[in-house]
Amino acid sequence: MNRTELNKYKAMLEARRAELAGGSRSRDEIRIEKTPDALDEVQLAGERELAIRNLDREANLLRNVRAALARIEDGSYGVCLHCEEEIKPKRLEAVPWTAYCIRCQEAADRHEFESAETLDAILADAA
Ligand SMILES: [Zn+2]
Repeated sequence: MNRTELNKYKAMLEARRAELAGGSRSRDEIRIEKTPDALDEVQLAGERELAIRNLDREANLLRNVRAALARIEDGSYGVCLHCEEEIKPKRLEAVPWTAYCIRCQEAADRHEFESAETLDAILADAA
């Protein structure tokens, strides 16, 4: 991958990182609201649940974005972490923080091997 391409992905990743790091918007959605109406309680609990899940997803994404930026720094960006083949530019355009080529991502999604993300989740659960 040449410098120009690398810089393009770097800019995309940095923009995403800034957006995610400033994500106080969704955090504001998580607040415990008291309501006398049981139905509202259920609905609010559901909304809170959803907001927490979104935060989880954003935290995961932010971690992936940071890892991708680190790979740009150390020169390993754009190479699949699993099979070490180059990741297709079309995939990087769509998902610049991806660590895997489409084939390995699909294998990881089917849990055929432990992706870094899965490992992170396991480590977080163990902590
Ligand atoms: Zn691969």
